[in-house]
Amino acid sequence: MRTADLTGLPEGVPEALHDEGIEELYPPQAEAVEAGLTDGESLVAAVPTASGKTLVAELAMLSSVARGGKALYIVPLRALASEKKAEFERWEEYGIDVGVSTGNYESSGEWLSSRDIIVATSEKVDSLVRNNAAWMDQLSCVVADEVHLVNDRHRGPTLEVTLAKLRQLNPSLQVVALSATVGNAGEVADWLDASLVHSDWRPIDLKMGVHYGNAITFDDGSQREVPVGKGDRQTPALVADALEGDGDDDQGSSLVFVNSRRNAESAARRMAGVTEQYITGDERSELAELAAEIRDVSDTETSEDLAKAVAKGAAFHHAGLASEHRTLVEDAFRDRLIKCICATPTLAAGVNTPSRRVVVRDWQRYDGDYGGMKPLDVLEVHQMMGRAGRPGLDPYGEAVLLSKDADSRDELFERYIWADAEDVHSKLAAEPALRTHLLATVASGFAHTREGLLEFLDQTLYATQTDDPGRLEQVTDRVLDYLEVNGFVEFEDQTIRATPIGHTVSRLYLDPMSAAEIIDGLRWADDHRTEKLRELEGETASASRSAQSEPDATAGFQRASDMVADAGGEAGSNSTSDDTDDFESDRTYPTTLGLYHLVCRTPDMYQLYLKSGDRDTYTELCYEREPEFLGRVPSEYEDVAFEDWLSALKTARLLEDWSDEVDEDRITERYGVGPGDIRGKVETAEWLLGAAERLASELDLESVYAVREAKMRVQYGVNEELLDLAGVRGVGRKRARRLYEAGVESRADLREADKSRILAALRGRRKTAENILEAAGRKDPSMDEIDESDAPDDAVP
Ligand code: ADP
Repeated sequence: MRTADLTGLPEGVPEALHDEGIEELYPPQAEAVEAGLTDGESLVAAVPTASGKTLVAELAMLSSVARGGKALYIVPLRALASEKKAEFERWEEYGIDVGVSTGNYESSGEWLSSRDIIVATSEKVDSLVRNNAAWMDQLSCVVADEVHLVNDRHRGPTLEVTLAKLRQLNPSLQVVALSATVGNAGEVADWLDASLVHSDWRPIDLKMGVHYGNAITFDDGSQREVPVGKGDRQTPALVADALEGDGDDDQGSSLVFVNSRRNAESAARRMAGVTEQYITGDERSELAELAAEIRDVSDTETSEDLAKAVAKGAAFHHAGLASEHRTLVEDAFRDRLIKCICATPTLAAGVNTPSRRVVVRDWQRYDGDYGGMKPLDVLEVHQMMGRAGRPGLDPYGEAVLLSKDADSRDELFERYIWADAEDVHSKLAAEPALRTHLLATVASGFAHTREGLLEFLDQTLYATQTDDPGRLEQVTDRVLDYLEVNGFVEFEDQTIRATPIGHTVSRLYLDPMSAAEIIDGLRWADDHRTEKLRELEGETASASRSAQSEPDATAGFQRASDMVADAGGEAGSNSTSDDTDDFESDRTYPTTLGLYHLVCRTPDMYQLYLKSGDRDTYTELCYEREPEFLGRVPSEYEDVAFEDWLSALKTARLLEDWSDEVDEDRITERYGVGPGDIRGKVETAEWLLGAAERLASELDLESVYAVREAKMRVQYGVNEELLDLAGVRGVGRKRARRLYEAGVESRADLREADKSRILAALRGRRKTAENILEAAGRKDPSMDEIDESDAPDDAVP
């Protein structure tokens, strides 16, 4: 089918596709159009990676908008949202407005009502439904990308429930679900009342094979010699072989998939030794520039390691990388400047980085729940392999697994090459998933009775798949009990209603169990305030004696409520004094560590693992800082509970270091994490503390000020005296400290202090200084004529 013959699209779109080089629809795309894709019919497209699923989505969305509707595109990862938005924005010249909704969960995003296409994660869509976004009613088309993720224990239930709710809101909604080629795509189509396009067609041939000895054996029976030379090193030999290619100007890049971040980094170091031999002089200088850009993003060890590999034409890619790093690496790989990426499987999920050759080096991975190495799913390996072959550039793609002996070669063929992908199974009947979703379903008015809830659940994939309907009923009853006991719902005869606090919990997008933990912890703090402050005062006296040798411990113990007043805070509660007793303390209670620990032990925070030796370290810390914890500390004999407590403590300590202004680099070293992980923990903590602040204010708890301070400190990564400065756009934690040391201590000082003093503290960066002064509201921010050397000596920290 020719794109020129497509009907029902906004004017100009078929011609634009033609100009992009898309003249003919790929066969699965044509099949989708024949099934009514551009007439509003629902569809499940289960086709391999890189076979044009995005265009299927675009055709559905554009035709829906042309009929006067509004489309929603649900992405599986936040990182993909902006990529997709950028892709769809090329339709703006045909009158299509595109918006992306990320960030703050607790908002209804009313501005999105003016957009024709909206891109969001399933978590975000779920929260928009909870916050009753008015434009939800106008949706006419929803696309679910990577719908096979309903199989994912953690994220699947949200996608499943969200689709069910959207369909309940608008029964004639067009649902287009894009899926990898899973075993039971038909079942998914049944659930969504959609037709099915199921195809193994690919735009470019894919040869799959296993390397063993000195050759790759492919699935078509052919072989390619790739001798490993001394040391039996298969991966470097395969990467070098792809770069050799089959003739002049036929250099092929490689993607190497490994099973851990550490392995990705060490493999990249090794592969850099290979790629280095294949780069030209021009490429070398371009790569040097790229390496400098990478170092500019952050001055951490990860950044340095990445820059070193990139300078030689190789890179690593994993979830611990900062997103700026990821983008730089992906772009340079697409431009063929970087010749080899060593990646963990995150890259296979969605990011469009095709490569001549894919090497699946590790097909087993450590699984914590399982307690050992576990083979990857066929689906995952197929998705990695699907990244092989760049249409228009390569004659075909090659995907290679590695084996050490003939037996395991045959096993790999059986297990991954000849095998079909697994079926997907709903994970909705798990208790944590239902806890969250049942409360939301009641709070947002989708159901008011137990029967109504069960009826709603009947529209999920779980119901389509299960042959034990009783199970969902049992879990539902248990969960309703839990929600009632914790005060999130109440029953009146047959009617279930969310309580005010239940509504808040649902809108804040918290797992009700996290909310219960936080509320219990903060109530406990209110009840034990005086007694704990006394304990802490005793401890402070001895701590200040040893403070000289430990600079971190000298942080001022200013009352949190004063601090909030200084910063122009607006927290809601009215009681600021310790009215339980007339005992006066200068300490803040609860302490930041206590609060960080509280949010770190909720199920909404991924805690750091305890490594060997950590148990002793954190057990000791646990006893040292016992008065700070909110709630009862489990005893060492409660093995699992105590272990969890310590993991939460390790995570809380990381946050404490961050807000005590410890260098990012020191933190990555101390906790064995990447800079991306620090940011992830910080963002989650900020969100959870924001939620805690809301709960505390709504329940009139005294801790509300302390919570607010802890949230701000983690948000900016600074001690309390810097909060005012760090809140100014462009300042950040390091510059705030330098300004403060130079005597510029507040936003007001930025407006009034001597400019040469400010410039010196900012190391002579004029543009930066001007931007900061402007953001602080200084009338004349210009730094022309100012000379930093005029600043007094004490202005150079
Ligand atoms: P998927 O989402 O299935 O992994 P994409 O939608 O990213 O794959 O498509 C891969 C590439 O194929 C994109 O660069 C896209 O522009 C191109 N493409 C899609 N459909 C066609 C077509 N009919 N003709 C030519 N190129 C196409």
